[in-house]
Amino acid sequence: MRKRNDTGDHYLQMYPELKKWINQCIICQATGYKPEMPEHISREFSMAAQNIKGYFNPIYVNELNICVQCEKIVASKQLGDIKMELQKIIGDFSVCKISNIDQVDFTREFVFLSKTSDEISLVCETNCVPSNIIAVEHGWKALKISGILDFGMVGVIAKISKLLAESEIAVFVISTYNTDYILLKTESFDNGVKVLMHNGYVIK
Ligand SMILES: [Zn+2]
Repeated sequence: MRKRNDTGDHYLQMYPELKKWINQCIICQATGYKPEMPEHISREFSMAAQNIKGYFNPIYVNELNICVQCEKIVASKQLGDIKMELQKIIGDFSVCKISNIDQVDFTREFVFLSKTSDEISLVCETNCVPSNIIAVEHGWKALKISGILDFGMVGVIAKISKLLAESEIAVFVISTYNTDYILLKTESFDNGVKVLMHNGYVIK
């Protein structure tokens, strides 16, 4: 059974230097301590390792930061054998925060709108950004994962994000019902495409 991690998280917030002994699965977000954690990990806090063991279970993750359970699911979907295809979307995108949707141009091909209790967020082509924006970040290009993704196809985005993160390329991921869109900053777009192609992704 998984232990409740609220107190564990709080403990790590107090002693952030201990976070290096914690693993987190990027797919299921399960958190635990590194199985190889020794008994004494801190000169200052002699009980640190013991406390961590009290708050967390051990969790092993592979080189992609995926836990054993999720790794099995990924393997069973034979994700490694699927040549994932991504499609370049023509145009420049902007990520905006807006106060209302009055000026959102829904006639455009790509309009990504999200509303939560504290914001309305809009991603749209730069040439149709509304004038009533609260904040905006221009300079994004988009890739679409071609084909319809099964909700159960875990790890697709995780794999892509991991590959790009290793090349220090920031991504902004938008999930729709059918698929996922990956936004990259314009200046790192070509490099990102190169990284993905080198790793067997087909970019059209
Ligand atoms: Zn997992």
